[in-house]
Amino acid sequence: MKMKLAVIPGDGIGPEVAGEAVKTAKKVCDMYGHRAIFTEAPAGGNAIDRYGEPLPKKTLDLCKSCDSVILGAVGGWQWDSLPGDMRPERALLGLRGELGLYANLRPAVLHEALKGACPLRKEIADAGINIMVVRELTGGMYFGDRGRKDTPLGQAAWDTELYSVFEVKRIAEAAFDAAKKRGRRVTNVDKANVLESSRLWREVVAEAAKGHPEISLDHMYVDNASMQLIRDPGHFDVIVTTNMFGDILSDEASQLTGSIGMLPSASLGGSGFGMYEPIHGSAPDLAGKDVANPIAAILSIAMLFRYSFSLEEEAASIESAVTRILNQGFRTGDIYSEGMKRVGTKEMGRLINESIGRS
Ligand code: NAD
Repeated sequence: MKMKLAVIPGDGIGPEVAGEAVKTAKKVCDMYGHRAIFTEAPAGGNAIDRYGEPLPKKTLDLCKSCDSVILGAVGGWQWDSLPGDMRPERALLGLRGELGLYANLRPAVLHEALKGACPLRKEIADAGINIMVVRELTGGMYFGDRGRKDTPLGQAAWDTELYSVFEVKRIAEAAFDAAKKRGRRVTNVDKANVLESSRLWREVVAEAAKGHPEISLDHMYVDNASMQLIRDPGHFDVIVTTNMFGDILSDEASQLTGSIGMLPSASLGGSGFGMYEPIHGSAPDLAGKDVANPIAAILSIAMLFRYSFSLEEEAASIESAVTRILNQGFRTGDIYSEGMKRVGTKEMGRLINESIGRS
């Protein structure tokens, strides 16, 4: 297979972890006979410094001409005082919007070797956690009509949640597709007992499910879902939900797995195009020290092979290598515990890459 991939290393630890991720992608391509061309482009704080804007047009054009995008992370204290639309994070919103990336897939997997890092009771952690949150990314309250007005009680503000049938059906289909690659169970999370937008959301998800008889679908209110994630995470396989509920629940789910440095994500736009990145930020406190955990970025390459190219064996080879290296006791600082072997970013990347294809 031929692949054209844009690489946006970004700021802080972004270039370090994205660098290891690209090495993994190259290794897997070499092993399985795929040809990939990687082209780097600036975005985020480094682009502000060099070009005066967080998302230069050249970067966007490159991404549009590629099959998918690999991203490190953007942001840092140097740019914190800039106005909202000039901040590094603006690049992310620009990329999502311009590339039509409406489905955010965030797996939260508790690795056997890291069970001790799970904040839940031992018997819950022992039962295992493997959840995929599918969050709608380009609609809902974060993009709805908003404003402020003066009222007799003083100033007031509002935000609106608006979802069309088209948007809900599209994200429901993304969730059903994801479930077919996993345990074939989808939990729809909404607030249909209160919100009209949620009632439409639930109707559309239920209707879309009729086209996927092999998937079992249940519905849960978001308040209950936030409890069940802690009480009984084994209930969940795929969660599909709105932009705002997904933002909150995916962070909650990520904390069940020990470290933010372990969790990848994919933002998909249909027809295979996606942007793949760790869920963590640019961790300026760790930048340039060779201590950041590259596993989230490396696992995002497994998602790239799985979701953009339907190359399941290639994806699984990366995930198995990560599991193997963790089982051998290698740890970066964020997941280190006594008795383990502490390694840096580059060494962790090297160990994982060397382990790909071994059993
Ligand atoms: P962060 O995720 O960068 O860091 C949170 C904590 O987790 C820090 O203690 C950090 O040291 C640690 N951490 C993060 N990634 C790690 C890794 N791979 N290995 C080990 N430890 C890791 O979040 P923050 O501190 O809130 O934000 C820092 C900057 O990143 C801000 O400018 C923020 O806006 C930006 N940000 C970017 C993205 C993105 O690019 N997608 C996402 C979130 C935050």
